[in-house]
Amino acid sequence: MNIPTSSMVTETPGALIASHSHIRGLGVDLDTLTPRFSSQGLVGQERARKAAALIIKMVEERKIAGRAILIAGPPSTGKTAIAMGMAQTLGSEVPFVTMSGSEIYSKEISKTEALTQAFRKGVAVRVSEETEFIEGEVVEIQLDKSVTQANRQGRIIMKTNDMESAFNLGPKLIDSLEKEHVIAGDIISVNMSSNRIVKLGRSYARSRDYDAMGKDTKFVTCPDGELRKRKEETHVVSLHEIDVINSRPQGYMGLFSGDTGEIPSETRDQINVKVDEWKEEGKAELLPGVLFIDEVHMLDVEAFSFMNKWTETELSPIIIMASNRGNATVRGTPSKAPHGMPLDFLDRCVIISTHPYNAHELQEILKIRAAEEEVELNEGAIALLTRVAEERGLRYGSQLIATSYEVAKKRKGGEGKVEERDVERAYGLFLDPKRSVELVAELQGERME
Ligand code: ATP
Repeated sequence: MNIPTSSMVTETPGALIASHSHIRGLGVDLDTLTPRFSSQGLVGQERARKAAALIIKMVEERKIAGRAILIAGPPSTGKTAIAMGMAQTLGSEVPFVTMSGSEIYSKEISKTEALTQAFRKGVAVRVSEETEFIEGEVVEIQLDKSVTQANRQGRIIMKTNDMESAFNLGPKLIDSLEKEHVIAGDIISVNMSSNRIVKLGRSYARSRDYDAMGKDTKFVTCPDGELRKRKEETHVVSLHEIDVINSRPQGYMGLFSGDTGEIPSETRDQINVKVDEWKEEGKAELLPGVLFIDEVHMLDVEAFSFMNKWTETELSPIIIMASNRGNATVRGTPSKAPHGMPLDFLDRCVIISTHPYNAHELQEILKIRAAEEEVELNEGAIALLTRVAEERGLRYGSQLIATSYEVAKKRKGGEGKVEERDVERAYGLFLDPKRSVELVAELQGERME
């Protein structure tokens, strides 16, 4: 069984999506569960943030197994932002995986495979390994050059605390020794678990010529227990990463390309058994993370029943879903249901709701976004952007920050500080969805006449 090391991990748990880069946490005092009006990048939505913080506590105390969380509310009311804040609060070791409901419909893999991969990305395993090191000064190295490269053998004498001991070298240790150009007099660390040698320094008093070392070097054999050090090494990897590394032919390149294909269920079964064993032996700990599914109404009835089963297992991440729909058709059925979700699944959801923002909250969010994008706005520009966000939506208002800045940079006499007239120009250049629809309808009307 191969375990990928942390350096192979491609998905940074908690990696941020650009438009939410200002979110650093939930902005809630976790001891008293009190949300601050504007803190850690989040503004307003105090009730939702307080509820989200409560969920974090339950996750940390492992009291929320088998449940899913639904964040429901109108568009641009911070559902994704709150989920991001939860991820930040959980910390960087805990995986946070985001997907949109529509992502399960791919040509390459089945819907259930896509969901299984997402679920397994959402659970990490912290694996601890005990590694054994021998550290000390090299006294003698003897290599037996008469055998083939692959079978090379050798001996090394090392000295620690004035005690010398000798031990055998296999082909891997010899390779590492040569790569590091180890010679007598070097202080080295030999990792007996990974067969790697690292040069730590040099003791000049004892330097000798490596090539001059003959076959008939004398060995002084001492009990080498004194030289050994034990060290706990830990790495955190997701179940999905272990799956990919152990499923051929994709190998671990699949992790980099993202193209893993279908992973055989036998591979996953074996990995689950192994992880269980590690857990029992105290070598591994499961870290259930968060799987965030946006546009949850895009999932179909089959996907929901699959998720129903998954959430009951120990290997499930916490599922957080977002919906901006009211009653909608459950895909794959003729019936409508709240948020387009089957009622039996909805029953096991904890629902958090978000509400439209008032002008004060919108203004604060816009100011935070401008600071994040390093754009300076004058009072008039802030006031106008706030009005635009109220009438045309927060997302459109936020987008106008960058475009207004470009306009300001081009304006004569403007030094890049955004004024009201820059926002007006950007507003004229880029339409919001509502005006765009109106324009198309108007043009169509003209053609009919
Ligand atoms: P949709 O239903 O359209 O998917 P949503 O409710 O998930 O929308 P977000 O994507 O979270 O909305 O919000 C839109 C933008 O506004 C994002 O850039 C987000 O970070 C920011 N935002 C929303 N709410 C807040 C908030 N309370 N504090 C700070 N930023 C916010």
